[in-house]
Amino acid sequence: MSRRILCPDCNEKRKAKYPSGLHPEDRAAGFQVRVVLIEVKKPEQHGIDVYEGNSLSAMALTKHEELPAIMCDDCNQAIPDGTRAYAISMWRGGEMGAWEQEFGKVV
Ligand SMILES: [Zn+2]
Repeated sequence: MSRRILCPDCNEKRKAKYPSGLHPEDRAAGFQVRVVLIEVKKPEQHGIDVYEGNSLSAMALTKHEELPAIMCDDCNQAIPDGTRAYAISMWRGGEMGAWEQEFGKVV
C-alpha cells in the first residue's frame, strides 16, 4: 500500500499520465486507488526519522528532523497549511483505512 500527498500541479500531472488513476500494470495486479481532496493542516509532529542498521532487528533511530510543512511527495515543495492538496492511497485487498484526516480537513 502507499499513501502520498500531492500538490495540485503534481496531481494534474498524475491524472494526465494515468487517466484511470493507476498504472495499467498496477490495475492488472489488483490495486485500487482513492483520491481525497484535503485542506492541509500539518500535524503537530511531522518529520522524517532516519534509521540505520544492518538488519531490521538492529535498526536504530539515528536522526530526526521536523519538517516546517507538509511536503509534496512528488516535487518536494511545501504545501502550506490552509491550501488544498490531494491525498492518494493505493492498496490491494480490503478497503484501506482512512488516514487523510491526519493531514488536513477532508473537503
Ligand atoms: Zn508537487
